[in-house]
Amino acid sequence: MEFICPKCKQIHSVMFQKTNKNCQDCEMKLIPFKNNNSNNDGIIFKQENQPEIKAKCLDAWRYFKELKEGITMYQSKEFRITNSFNGTIIIHPALSKCDYTLKYSKFKEVWKEYKGTRSNHPGDYCDITILASYILTAMNMYFEKIGAQSTEIRLSKSKDSGILPNWDDLK
Ligand SMILES: [Zn+2]
Repeated sequence: MEFICPKCKQIHSVMFQKTNKNCQDCEMKLIPFKNNNSNNDGIIFKQENQPEIKAKCLDAWRYFKELKEGITMYQSKEFRITNSFNGTIIIHPALSKCDYTLKYSKFKEVWKEYKGTRSNHPGDYCDITILASYILTAMNMYFEKIGAQSTEIRLSKSKDSGILPNWDDLK
C-alpha cells in the first residue's frame, strides 16, 4: 500500500504516511493510492463453464520475445523473431528484405485497442502500426497458450515450424 497527495499527486510509502500524515508541500492529508495501472491492460476471457482467464500485456510481450518464428493468421506469412540488445523485438518476414523493429509501447497500443474491439483484423490497427499482423498473431498464440481461447483462430501451422527450412542465414 502506498499513499498519494490528492493535490500534487506525489506518492509516498506507508512509512512516510505513518510519520507525516500530510503532504509536506501542500499540507493535504495523504490518501491511499490504488495503483490500477498494472491491472488496467488485462484482457478477461470467459468461456462457458470455465473460470475467467486474465491475459496480461507484459506477459504476452514476454511470450512474443521468446518466440522464434510464426505464421501470421492472415495471409499466412512466415516470419522469424529476434531480440535486440535494447529490449525491442525484431521481426523478419520471410518474403521481405526489410526487418521491422517493434517496441513494447507499440505492442501495448495494439493490445489496448484489441482489448476494446477484440478485432483480429490487422487493417483495424493501421493507424497504430503496420506490424499489427505479427502482433495479433503473437497475441493469439499467447491467448491460446494460457488457455484463454479455443483453437478456432489457431496457428496450427506454427507448430509445424519445420516448414520454415531455409532461414538459417538470418543474421
Ligand atoms: Zn502535495
